Amino acid sequence: VTATALAIDIGATKISCAVVTATGDIRERAVGTTPRVGADVVAAVVGLIGRMASAASVRSVGVGSAGIIDPASGVVTGATSVLANWEGVRLRDDLEAALGLPVTIMNDIHAHAWGEKRFGAGASRDSVFVVAVGTGLGAVLATRRGIEPGAHGASGHFGHISCPEAGTEPCACGGRGHLESVASGLGVPALYRRLGGDRAVASAKEVFALVDADPVAAATVQHAATALGRAIGGAVNLLDPESVVLAGGMRDPGGPWLSLVDRSIRDVALPTLRGIPLAVAQLGDDAALVGAGHYALTRGGQNDL
Ligand SMILES: [Zn+2]
Repeated sequence: VTATALAIDIGATKISCAVVTATGDIRERAVGTTPRVGADVVAAVVGLIGRMASAASVRSVGVGSAGIIDPASGVVTGATSVLANWEGVRLRDDLEAALGLPVTIMNDIHAHAWGEKRFGAGASRDSVFVVAVGTGLGAVLATRRGIEPGAHGASGHFGHISCPEAGTEPCACGGRGHLESVASGLGVPALYRRLGGDRAVASAKEVFALVDADPVAAATVQHAATALGRAIGGAVNLLDPESVVLAGGMRDPGGPWLSLVDRSIRDVALPTLRGIPLAVAQLGDDAALVGAGHYALTRGGQNDL
């Protein structure tokens, strides 16, 4: 019998649950809408799991969740504007009480990076810097030894580093002038409008589609990709990973994006590191589920990184 864990991916809009094997395969899944109030999330998760026949056989649970989760206590300590009343939820204790199983909690970026490191684009590497560009922007180093969550579980807030192209734009975290305001699913259309683009354009996808026809869209993509690549190049100099993996919904939107990011990384990287491979993620939306499930299996439900 192959060992399995229950994996739970808690995002701002949806909750995904899956039974994940030790080899990274997904056996069964259930998806639901994230409740509007964080305190209702545990009940929603329990409801979803009740619909999964194979969930009864698991012995451990791995959670990848939006927000900052304190590694020691399993309590949500920060959530920007992700979920109302999410801060203060005792996510690990409440889930363990509700499910009667050991629960391992990690931030969703950490879970996503672990999935790609273990079973995706980083599987053949000793260390990868996984950059997830979606609605928001996060990135973290994943090595054979796992993920370093940081003293507060807050490592990987890559979108919240200073970025000249962001000027003094307010950020979802409460700060100003952060990379996420330029190079993310929300940042790209916002930058496009700031540069004088069509006010009706609301998504990054629309901006990418306009690149050949609209000089403002072309300039937006140039600025956003260059800013992202510059930040990644700086991180490469700091961490010296074996490879960079671009993940998330904007991993490869077509057009000049990927080559601009690639060039910008190499403009900043130290001469020794300039040849670092840039790969595109392989697991898509399943990365966080696979990562959280595998982490729970290998750590035996102990939240000890
Ligand atoms: Zn920020």
